Amino acid sequence: MMKWSGLDQLQLGNRFAELPEPFYSLVQPQPLKNPHLVAFSTDAAALIGLDPCQASSQQLSEYFGGLRLLKGSNPLATVYSGHQFGGYTAQLGDGRALLLGDLEGRDGQRWELQLKGSGKTPYSRHGDGRAALRSVIREYLGSEALAALGVPTTRALCIIGSETQICRESIESGASMVRLSPSHIRFGHFEYFYYTRRPEQLKQLADFVIRHHYPHCSAEANPCLAMYSEVVERTARLVAQWQALGFCHGVMNTDNMSILGLTLDYGPFGFLDDYQPDYICNRTDEHGRYAYHQQPSIAMWNCVCLAQSLMGLVRQADLQTALNRFQPEYAIAYTEQMKRRLGIEGKDVQDGALIEEFLQLLEQAKADYNFTFLALEHAVAGEAEPVMALLGDNSRVRDWLSRYLGRININAAQLMSQYNPRVVLRNYLAQQVIEQAEQGDYSELAKLHAALRTPCKEGLSRDFQPVRDGDRNVSLSCSS
Ligand code: AMP
Ligand code: MG
Repeated sequence: MMKWSGLDQLQLGNRFAELPEPFYSLVQPQPLKNPHLVAFSTDAAALIGLDPCQASSQQLSEYFGGLRLLKGSNPLATVYSGHQFGGYTAQLGDGRALLLGDLEGRDGQRWELQLKGSGKTPYSRHGDGRAALRSVIREYLGSEALAALGVPTTRALCIIGSETQICRESIESGASMVRLSPSHIRFGHFEYFYYTRRPEQLKQLADFVIRHHYPHCSAEANPCLAMYSEVVERTARLVAQWQALGFCHGVMNTDNMSILGLTLDYGPFGFLDDYQPDYICNRTDEHGRYAYHQQPSIAMWNCVCLAQSLMGLVRQADLQTALNRFQPEYAIAYTEQMKRRLGIEGKDVQDGALIEEFLQLLEQAKADYNFTFLALEHAVAGEAEPVMALLGDNSRVRDWLSRYLGRININAAQLMSQYNPRVVLRNYLAQQVIEQAEQGDYSELAKLHAALRTPCKEGLSRDFQPVRDGDRNVSLSCSS
C-alpha cells in the first residue's frame, strides 16, 4: 500500500516535455494575491496519494496560488487549435492554464496536474490568463459530480481563492483550480499540427499519445488507426452517459474534446431540469449548435475533424470505417444507460420503443427529467401517484406505465437506486453556493460537494421539490 505524501514530498515529472518546443512554451505561474483555500477534494487527492490533511496546510495555497512550485515542476503551456462553433480557429492553446507536471498515482497510472487561472501565457490572446471564482467552483463541482456518477472526466483537486481582482461582466475575484487528468490532450492538439502542415510533428504527437495512453494499440497493424477507433468509441460512450443523465456540456468545440474520451473544460454546462430536448445551456450559443439533443451528432462531427487531422497517418477508408462505429456504439451505450435508470434487465425487442415513448411523455408533460426516474422508483414500489403527478394522469401514461411495470423484474428497485441520482448539480444549486463563496463563506460549497460525492445514497426520496420557474433550464453566460 502506497503511503500518503505531503506536498513537499510530491515529486513531479513531465512526460509532455518529452515532446519538443513547438508543442509548448515554458511559462511560470503568476502568483495570486493572498491566496487561500476554498475547496479540496479528498477523493481527487487520493488519486495522487496526497495526504488529505494537507487541506489545512497554508502551503497548499502557496503551491497552487502560484507562489511556489512542487519539486520537479517545470510548468508549460501547450499549443492547440480547434473548431469553435463550427469554424476553425488557427491558434488557441493553454491561455490560462499550466501543466505543472505529472506523477504516479495510487492506481499506478500517471496523473497530470494542471493549474487553471495561473496567469498569462503566449496563448492568452486577449485574455488575462485568470479564472473567476464562480467558474472554477462550477468546474470543481461539475467534474467531481460526474466522476461520482461514473462518467469519465477530468478531476478537480482544489480551488484557491485570492484578492486578485479580474474584470468580467463586473469586477470579480480571481481564483485557481488544480485539475487532474491522465492527459489534457485535446482533438485540437492534432488539428493544430495538421492545419499548420507539420506532418512530422503530428506523427510525433500520435506516437506520444499511443505510447502513453493507448499502449495496447502499438501492436496493431496501424496503431494510429487503432487509437482513432478507440477515441471514437470512447467519445460515443461518453456522450451516451451525458444524454442518459441529462448533462449538457455547452461548448463542444473540438478544443474541448479529450483524446481520452473524458468530459473536459466545464464552461456554461448544465443538467436538464425539465425534459426539453432543445435546451441550450450556453447563452452565447444562439443557434443551439450545442443544445442537449445535438450532443451526439456534434460529438461525431468532432470525431470527423479528428479524422481529417489524421489523414496523413491513416487511410481515409479506414478512418471512415472507424467513424462508422460511432452511431451503433452510441446507440448501444445509450440504451444500456437508460435501461439501468429504468431498472430494466435483459433484452427485449420492445425496449427501444419503451424508452422512446417514455421520453415523449416527459417532453409532452415538461416533466423534470431526473425527478421522473425517482418517481418511477415509487411506481415500482407500488405507488404510482408521484409519476402520474409528473407525467399527467391520462391513458397514454397509464398504458406506458403498465407496459413498463410488466417489463421489469424483482431487481428493478435495486438497480434503479444504484443509478438514479437523488442529488443533481442543478444550476441554481451551484449558483447558491457561488453567491455564498463570493461572500467568503465556503461551508455550503463543501456541503453540496459532499452530497454530490454519493449522489445515489439516500433511499426513496419523497419530496420532489419543484425547481422554481426562474431557475429551470436556465442558460448561462460563457464568460469565465
Ligand atoms: P474555453 O472556452 O474556456 O475552452 O477557452 C477557449 C480558449 O480561450 C482557450 O485557448 C483558453 O485558454 C482561452 N481563454 C479563455 N479564457 C481565457 C482568459 N481569461 N485568459 C486567457 N485565455 C483564455
Ligand atoms: Mg477550452
